[in-house]
Amino acid sequence: MQAVKAVRQNYRPTEEILSLLEDFRCMVNDCVRIGLRENLTSMKSLSIRAYHQLSAYDVPTCYRLTAISRAAGILRNYRRELKKMGQSARVPYVTRLSLTDCYGFRVTHRLVRLPIRRRGEYTFIVLNDHTLRTIGGRTPRSLTLTADSLSISLSKEIAEIEPVGAIGIDRNLDYVTTADSDGSILRHDLVRATKIKARCRETKSRFRRNDARIRGRVYGKYGRIQRNRVGSILHNVSASIVRRAKEKRFRIVMEEIRGIRKLYRKGNGQSNDYRARLNSWSFYELQRQIEYKARWEGIPVAYVAARGTSVNCSICGSRTYPNGLRTLHCLKCDISIDRDVNAARNILAKGRGVRFTPDGPPEARKEAVKGNETMTPILRADGGKVTQG
Ligand SMILES: [Zn+2]
Repeated sequence: MQAVKAVRQNYRPTEEILSLLEDFRCMVNDCVRIGLRENLTSMKSLSIRAYHQLSAYDVPTCYRLTAISRAAGILRNYRRELKKMGQSARVPYVTRLSLTDCYGFRVTHRLVRLPIRRRGEYTFIVLNDHTLRTIGGRTPRSLTLTADSLSISLSKEIAEIEPVGAIGIDRNLDYVTTADSDGSILRHDLVRATKIKARCRETKSRFRRNDARIRGRVYGKYGRIQRNRVGSILHNVSASIVRRAKEKRFRIVMEEIRGIRKLYRKGNGQSNDYRARLNSWSFYELQRQIEYKARWEGIPVAYVAARGTSVNCSICGSRTYPNGLRTLHCLKCDISIDRDVNAARNILAKGRGVRFTPDGPPEARKEAVKGNETMTPILRADGGKVTQG
């Protein structure tokens, strides 16, 4: 199986690089123009019509194909939009500086070498330690360059591990709770991420000036700040979960969460603040990170239907009732259990077709916890750090 991932870093562009980026943008727009005029969307037909026209630019030929491929993608999206929304679809010219390369660049020593003009001239960008460590001597697949960041995509052939257990993951707005088939429960705290998002939302809502351009800039800035901060919190959580799965040789089981945005739409009788809070939930981003990191390590990832995972008892399977703020009570087993822990265990059980006993998971040692479900120690983890508590 092929696993793919990308590593991204910031850099300061030189004049040369900026002019290359601008040329690439114009090349893509030329191709888009040709494609719109002659109604082409396939890479092949677009290449035949556009390749020679692009020779007007003094850039190495390796960028012509990637520009055509970028344009083909844009045209395909535009055609889809046109079908969906009719004439209100936006004409798809590129305004942002961004370049893709698959053939011309090389990573040598601590640098990435990029061809810039046709006669074998190169420019260099220094890679940082994190990028170099991630590349680790592999041959990169492609490079994407914007005005302030570069991202290198890598791939490797991996063999999937034969799992000896599983980790069930329950995600909600503030916590990510995991239940392992060896009985341990771990909770990752996302409260900080939720707070950052709330703060950004509030700052944006205080913006009063009626100027779309300034608003765009200010919102863009807060969006970036939020993405970076929240992203690093999520990265810590996903890395720690995948690390644990790798150490224990466990597979990962998550709930399939579908249609979540539909649940919190205007007109559903929920308050603005409530909707904003739940719509800012990064459930998909976390899932994406866990999935690609797990895949990179050869750890299988499974999804189970969400139905019943949050209300049914993880021991007997019957319906539970809310008991206090975050606990549930099962009448049949006569126990109280943390809501998130119960959900994580249900997800784990669904992924493996087994049920918990009151003494913990089926194969756990009996002397570990006797009788009371709430006795299971809950480890708290804030970001990547794990603390007892
Ligand atoms: Zn029960």
